[in-house]
Amino acid sequence: MMIKKFKRVLVANRGEIAIRIFRACNELGIRTVAIYSNEDKNALFRLKADESYLIGKNKGPIEAYLDIDEIIKLAVKKGVDAIHPGYGFLSENPEFAKKCDEAGITFIGPTPEMMDRVGDKINSKNVAVSAGVPVIPGSEKPIRSDEEALHFANAAGYPIMLKAAAGGGGRGMRIVREEAKLLEELHSARNEARKAFGVEDVFIEKYLEDPKHIEVQILGDGYGNIVHLYERDCSIQRRHQKLIEYTPAFSLTEEKRLEICQDAIKIASAVSYKNAGTCEFLVDQDGKHYFIEMNPRIQVEHTVTEMVTGVDIVQAQIKVAEGYPLGSVEINLPSQDAVQIRGYSIQCRITTEDPAHNFAPDTGKMDVYRTGGGFGVRLDGGSGFTGAIISPYYDSLLVKSTTWGRTFDDAIRKQIRSIREITIRGVKTNAAFLINVLNHDTFKRGACDTNFILKNKELFD
Ligand code: ADP
Repeated sequence: MMIKKFKRVLVANRGEIAIRIFRACNELGIRTVAIYSNEDKNALFRLKADESYLIGKNKGPIEAYLDIDEIIKLAVKKGVDAIHPGYGFLSENPEFAKKCDEAGITFIGPTPEMMDRVGDKINSKNVAVSAGVPVIPGSEKPIRSDEEALHFANAAGYPIMLKAAAGGGGRGMRIVREEAKLLEELHSARNEARKAFGVEDVFIEKYLEDPKHIEVQILGDGYGNIVHLYERDCSIQRRHQKLIEYTPAFSLTEEKRLEICQDAIKIASAVSYKNAGTCEFLVDQDGKHYFIEMNPRIQVEHTVTEMVTGVDIVQAQIKVAEGYPLGSVEINLPSQDAVQIRGYSIQCRITTEDPAHNFAPDTGKMDVYRTGGGFGVRLDGGSGFTGAIISPYYDSLLVKSTTWGRTFDDAIRKQIRSIREITIRGVKTNAAFLINVLNHDTFKRGACDTNFILKNKELFD
């Protein structure tokens, strides 16, 4: 077994997740290197790293963070041992992982081969089927002709969903309720997929009415050891994008929860997975669960799992990338027996979006930014401070409020207090909307499905 201790880590990302990773490195005694675009010259995350460098001088705000060659060149020049990609940007790009490797830099993530097998929605469904894990009926391959589309949609039964194989962030999905609309929607879905993800592969899946979204946090060390850190309920979504996540998913039976966790282990084991990852499932109204996709990276909502297990998932990513096996108790990498959950945790994504205007992102100067704290409250912030300019270029996630409580009610009360304590003036946020969800009886019972926001107009009052 080869161990490569990291001394300097570059984070190829920005905002809250960059800060989250710098903090993990800091505690491990690793020096941190930030990269930033022209537009992020005054961004907070830059200051949280030991060193920071401008990239993409002549590039756009997003392109700067996607420039593989420039990022690797900088990393080599600065003597970096490893690159953490965060989420989004280059985190699921096999070419980036490969080029890091060729430059002698460790990519903190899975190998490019693993990424191909589980990072693509179609491939990962096939891995799941081979591992004996249930998937939603559908085409299980990209649709190549109109005839194929009609055939697979009929076989699955309407309504169906068209999904981009490379889709992410809730984009690249269309619901089709009748055959007459299928081909028209298929062609638009392909166009959209090509523009958004550079790949036009679209597949068909049966559309489940009002399911719950349940996902399992996994850790793998690449030696065949896989540990699960239990599940999260991420059913509170707007347009297929998560807004509030919590753990444990207490509305499911204990038996069901463990069954889903075991299925996640089967999928990760099939590729001898290395890195943190998440296996996502939908649970239908009859309580049946189906695997939908795997995210081979850290996720926004990893905080709730950390709160109930005490495992630092970002540090675990770093340690397995250094080559340590799971179960290395001396460095705090757990084996399955050592993972226990305690209490309840909820995360709310506070965004600079205006619920009254269809959640349009708001921008401009933040005149006041004051945060809360106290027992059971954890804040992972990115761009907020008094005087900050909120730009239109990036994700509107401002701060993640994560609370812990001995009971779910306790975690809700702490969450409401936490959000109320956060004072923001100058830009609109979704704070009041989040509190309406937290106060809703369906939420308190853990009974929300993925269409909860769509079905409850009173949340907007
Ligand atoms: P992304 O990669 O964009 O996050 P996912 O495949 O994870 O896409 O799906 C995101 C959300 O879309 C799910 O949580 C669920 O709300 C909805 N969804 C996806 N597939 C289906 C389906 N077959 N039936 C019903 N809803 C679905």
